[in-house]
Amino acid sequence: MSWDRVQQLLGTENLALLQQKQVGIVGLGSGGGYVALALAMCGVSRFVLIDPDKLSVQNIIRHVADKRYIDQPKVAAIKDLILHRNPSAQVLAYQGRVEEHLKALLNIDLLIVGVDNEPTKYVINEFCLAQYLTAIYGGVYERGEGGDVVIISPNQGPCYACWAESLREEISFSDVSDHQSLDYGQVGPEGTLKAEPALWLDVVRVANTQANMALNILLQGTSAYRELPSNTVIIANQWLEIAEGHHIPPFGVEWVNIPRNPDCLVCGTRTQLKSLENALSLDELLKSEHTVRPSAQEEEQEDD
Ligand SMILES: [Zn+2]
Repeated sequence: MSWDRVQQLLGTENLALLQQKQVGIVGLGSGGGYVALALAMCGVSRFVLIDPDKLSVQNIIRHVADKRYIDQPKVAAIKDLILHRNPSAQVLAYQGRVEEHLKALLNIDLLIVGVDNEPTKYVINEFCLAQYLTAIYGGVYERGEGGDVVIISPNQGPCYACWAESLREEISFSDVSDHQSLDYGQVGPEGTLKAEPALWLDVVRVANTQANMALNILLQGTSAYRELPSNTVIIANQWLEIAEGHHIPPFGVEWVNIPRNPDCLVCGTRTQLKSLENALSLDELLKSEHTVRPSAQEEEQEDD
């Protein structure tokens, strides 16, 4: 394999840096699978892949893995595809739910979230908060009309819970005949989304943005890093109304900044706790794989 072209573009040192970074990807469907392969093709060489599912006949028309991989675990299919591009890549593949494999994510540099399931995203959010880990979430809207990508960084801006609450209250679709607010609105009794029809190219536009942002974060501190205007980009594939009377045209994007909710039930208490942590000894707490929660008494003391 020759990395000459990537090396010429990114520089020898930056490519070497990418090859050292370990990226976790949870959810290897049409979006997550694409992100994995795209990052591998840009020089990322160490992956932790987690997904419970096998590739089905229905998947392959919108997945980087083709019919050769039917009935294989998606993690195994993606691992194979990565190794076909970069035989020296180190890929750890775990078939199962993320809750069963959180330990595998303890030493990664960045997490890519490619799942639709909201409860799973909340589990990931809590894990990232506890581990001071940056995560990039990608979401595709109904019928692939658009999507969004957000970078959730520890102790900086919102956690996923306050971000999701804020964004979904504010964005609505443009289709006046069927006007509905964006709540990824199809959550079924199990908390999972109904399979929504969306074209591969519309899904991939969002996934490509997610992959590109991941690459950017991995290159933070280098000459190749691009400063981003805010934490969230909304991508329109169709006309998309994101606020009353405010539309993004097809192929357009808009950056929005979603602030942290100081009353967020997930990160609000953690931030209050942070001053307490510093007083105790941040080093000790960092070593202890903590998922500290304030007791009721501490919460009362922190009220002011
Ligand atoms: Zn929060």
